[in-house]
Amino acid sequence: MYPKLVIDLNKLKQNLDAVSEITKDHGNCTLAVVTKVLCADHKVAELIANHPKVDFIADSRIQNIASYTDLAHEKGKKTLLLRIPMQSELADVIRYVDLCQISEISTIRLLNQEAEKAGKIQKIIMMIDLGDLREGFFFKDRALIHEAVKEILEMKNIELFGISVNLTCYGAIIPKNDNLSVLVEIAEEIEKEHGIKLNIVSGGNSSSIYLVDRGELPNGINNLRLGEAFAFGTECAYGDRLPGTTGEAFILEAEIVELKNKPSLPIGESGKDAFGNSPVFEDRGPMDRAIIAIGKQDVDLEKIVPVDERIEIMGGSSDHIILDVTNCKEDNGGKYKVGDIVRFTLFYPALLSLTTSKYVEREYV
Ligand SMILES: *Cc1c(COP(=O)(O)O)cnc(C)c1O
Repeated sequence: MYPKLVIDLNKLKQNLDAVSEITKDHGNCTLAVVTKVLCADHKVAELIANHPKVDFIADSRIQNIASYTDLAHEKGKKTLLLRIPMQSELADVIRYVDLCQISEISTIRLLNQEAEKAGKIQKIIMMIDLGDLREGFFFKDRALIHEAVKEILEMKNIELFGISVNLTCYGAIIPKNDNLSVLVEIAEEIEKEHGIKLNIVSGGNSSSIYLVDRGELPNGINNLRLGEAFAFGTECAYGDRLPGTTGEAFILEAEIVELKNKPSLPIGESGKDAFGNSPVFEDRGPMDRAIIAIGKQDVDLEKIVPVDERIEIMGGSSDHIILDVTNCKEDNGGKYKVGDIVRFTLFYPALLSLTTSKYVEREYV
């Protein structure tokens, strides 16, 4: 059945080897591998859980974590919840999550109560916002941070395991030695002022890994959380390929359901398309147009790239994508016909939506 997402587990293993070498051997950091872009695909979770250099398996969604909590524990890994939890999901946090990133004292109080009910000590990581303006205690509000730490340390069923930052997500702020050094500073301040030791000072996601090989990751940062670097082998600060990785662990395959020569300009009065937009077309004369059976419900057309360079994506609607295959001639590498499969490489958002779509099959090679 198509459309099909083909997942190459050997290539993912290659990426895992490469990024864990950078993070652990060169960066002296523990490694959390993030599964959210794959909706915690179970085969991939197994690969991660079995890797000797992975310390944590992380996700932003509790359902994804719940799907591999037992597996992670069997293999000696800890689970890490990345998204600050909803107050309505705290019972599940206690149940499935070893480490929980969090930024609201009111939520931490409720988590403490939930943990007490369950007879557990819940480990938390306090998130600090260094200026990207997504989640976290704002780095300039030091008094608030210390007040929160003081209250947390008095809670019987909460253990303050560390602090962390997330950058380059909302505000597109790039991690550098100077802003990450502020996180280390805050960690040292907390340790000194409250007489504790923080186990984790987590320096961010795939946008921080480039600092390792430049030797610019501040001393004191001892953990990274990597999703894109693992799945695609790219660091996200500048989009560069990390040494030893591949960007081709995933291929989308879709089937041609119509192939006809038609004009390139629609005929008749123009109104709105299926998504309420007023599209503009360029007259390229008659073209060979192939329709594949996958659409915007499954994937953003701008985030997939045909492997066959002769093909151009023209557009699509919920269930159809239209391709210009005019250049695919017999004397130029061969023609397509109805029933043939067209292949695409993916960017991160495409993998995210394709693994979310229940209409996309998966094959592992
Ligand atoms: C998604 C996410 C990550 C991983 O991000 P990548 O860029 O895929 O490495 C790390 N931390 C948090 C809080 C996240 O939400």
